[in-house]
Amino acid sequence: MRLAIVGGGISGLALAYYVTTRQHDASRFDQVCLFEASPRLGGVIDTRLWESYVLEMGPDSLVDKPGGAVELIREIGLGDHLIPMNPDAKPPLMRTTDGWKPFPSTETRSYSLDVGVHLLVERLGDRLKSVDIKLNRPVSRVMRASTGWYLDGDDTPYDAMVLALPASVIPLILEESGDPLSWCQHVQYQPRAVVGAVYRPDSFQALDLVQHTGFVVSPQVGLGLTAVTWLSSKWPYRRRSPYIVLRTFWGPPGENPGAWSDSELLRRHQQALEALAGLRGAPLWHTIQRLETALPQVDGRVTIEPIASDHGYLSFLGPYRIGPGVSDCVKAAAEEADRVLAWGQQRTLGRRR
Ligand SMILES: Cc1cc2nc3c(=O)[nH]c(=O)nc-3n(C[C@H](O)[C@H](O)[C@H](O)COP(=O)(O)OP(=O)(O)OC[C@H]3O[C@@H](n4cnc5c(N)ncnc54)[C@H](O)[C@@H]3O)c2cc1C
Repeated sequence: MRLAIVGGGISGLALAYYVTTRQHDASRFDQVCLFEASPRLGGVIDTRLWESYVLEMGPDSLVDKPGGAVELIREIGLGDHLIPMNPDAKPPLMRTTDGWKPFPSTETRSYSLDVGVHLLVERLGDRLKSVDIKLNRPVSRVMRASTGWYLDGDDTPYDAMVLALPASVIPLILEESGDPLSWCQHVQYQPRAVVGAVYRPDSFQALDLVQHTGFVVSPQVGLGLTAVTWLSSKWPYRRRSPYIVLRTFWGPPGENPGAWSDSELLRRHQQALEALAGLRGAPLWHTIQRLETALPQVDGRVTIEPIASDHGYLSFLGPYRIGPGVSDCVKAAAEEADRVLAWGQQRTLGRRR
């Protein structure tokens, strides 16, 4: 049997890992292929380095839940790289039009990786020796075959296929309509931008604020800024930073920060930090990321079922399945691996009878 996984973010990678490590003689995929549109694996996991200082432009905080990312990290031998959140950092705040307020934190048992979350992606990639990973390979069409599913540019159908893709991409590439896809319209994306930057230690007048893990900003404040993470306060990275390393998140309702130029984003980033944290001076270094399809808002009515029969299996995987976090995606990938392997076993048994 052949399995295709489309999408090389943490969902697709974790699925490939669990399928190849959990499969058994009664349900075996002789060929597992992973198709990724971009030149690199990891999707929104995006660790950037400045002189070996870690700047996460995507997830930095991995919640320790059963079956989640922290368990997977230990399973693949990266336990020594786990770092708990800095116990001396002050908890997150919320900026409202009335000033600063405490913000309820959900990150009590969170970890990161001492050299950046991208280490998880690299190690998973190394573990997938038996998987045929195709980078720079966007999939633009998925169609039914008499048995299984075809991808554009591939003559042989796959018995099973899992689309580990943003929900907004699925109706654009999948030639299927009606009920099986109706859930996609209940998953909404808001374009976002992230600005990461490194400052000298004396750049901020609000010295107490910098010692918190970060803050969120209510939309009424009107800056377009949604949140700030003080990365150098939050994580005891292997290389302790004398500098202040931070990131700002942009995604005001009804606006598209992805359309702002780099200089416009940096200007807003500087202005907001001047107004809220007493910033003085330019960053030593900065970097920008734009995200069209990250952190979906999922309507509670969403139920996602595979399209499965004796003739083939097609399923969907991503932050819309269990929840938006990396740990949710890893847990959903493990469940999906068990489900597609159970389907394979049923089919093998059916054919033997
Ligand atoms: C800025 C930011 C901060 C976050 N912070 C945290 C955090 O601190 N903690 C936490 O737990 N979670 C966090 N999250 C959420 C979490 O990172 C994501 O939900 C999770 O990484 C999503 O992984 P994924 O593989 O499902 O999707 P993605 O990472 O979006 O991967 C999808 C992949 O599919 C590929 N693709 C798209 N179209 C095609 C195509 N047609 N053909 C082939 N490939 C295609 C893309 O290139 C991409 O690699 C954050 C997310 C963002 C954006």
